[in-house]
Amino acid sequence: AKADGRSRLCFYGPAMQAELSERAALEADLRRALAQEQFELHYQPQVSSAGGLIGVEALLRWNHPQRGMVSPLSFIPVAEDNGLILDIGRWVLLAACRQLAEWAEVPRLAAMTVSVNVSARQFRHPDFVDEVKSALEFTGAASRLLRLELTESLLLEDVEAVIVRMQALRALGVGFSLDDFGTGYSSLSYLKRLPLTELKIDMSFVRDVLVDPNDAAIARTIIALAHTMGLSVIAEGVESEAQRGFLARSGCDAYQGYLFGRPASAAQLMQFAHNATSV
Ligand code: C2E
Ligand code: CA
Ligand code: CA
Ligand code: CA
Repeated sequence: AKADGRSRLCFYGPAMQAELSERAALEADLRRALAQEQFELHYQPQVSSAGGLIGVEALLRWNHPQRGMVSPLSFIPVAEDNGLILDIGRWVLLAACRQLAEWAEVPRLAAMTVSVNVSARQFRHPDFVDEVKSALEFTGAASRLLRLELTESLLLEDVEAVIVRMQALRALGVGFSLDDFGTGYSSLSYLKRLPLTELKIDMSFVRDVLVDPNDAAIARTIIALAHTMGLSVIAEGVESEAQRGFLARSGCDAYQGYLFGRPASAAQLMQFAHNATSV
């Protein structure tokens, strides 16, 4: 008897109303951002243990006309909720492939992988494999240099479907990195069935790797696990030489973090590559 419209209204207080209209405004803003080309990709260097530039991670930036550069942390979760992540993700994929094809002509950058973050909702969309395929074809980017970063949240349901989709993309030549590894839900029995290329040690373990024995043990375990499964392993959020040293002694293959470079525009990255020692 209480299930009428009026009794349900009590869930929507003024705070909730404000939250909802803020979200609606953000959604409209995001649509405009897509239409008016306010998004750009920045690229953060990834280096090998020998110090050579081996890849970059593409990170989304929103150059907002009033608010300046807006962090993806403030709009990606909203875009995941309202579905706009599908359009945004498509834009990111195309922009990253376009950049990859451009760098194929630059000697120092030609062999570099480009890692692209893919939201679970985007990956699960039925058109995703076709979209990757057409982005590669349209731009002429080399599939073996494209790496998709997935998170463990993708493994929460219907793992079989995820594996089938990953295999289809692997067959195209695309690689996979499991991002933020160790922070989410990951069953080791699933892990060995995923056609992965790389594990990415989450920066929350890297931060205190020198002072917290638990974090040190976790980092070493992830490195050993990756190598046992025949995968390479990269650490993110490396800010100090001491962190890099510890990880290097533990056998880590690659590094990403402010120690090597912040996310930068494609033009800045060119400069970085020019100044970097080649290996
Ligand atoms: P993430 O994938 O874990 O990316 C790493 C984040 O750590 C980036 O933040 C990067 O700028 C930052 N970072 C890199 N090195 C260091 C370091 O040494 N120290 C510290 N403290 N931070 C470092 P950013 O660019 O703000 O991105 C935040 C998150 O937004 C990303 O986390 C990712 O989950 C999401 N994101 C970014 N671009 C995209 C995209 O194109 N698509 C999707 N779906 N998500 C994206
Ligand atoms: Ca990432
Ligand atoms: Ca990450
Ligand atoms: Ca992270």
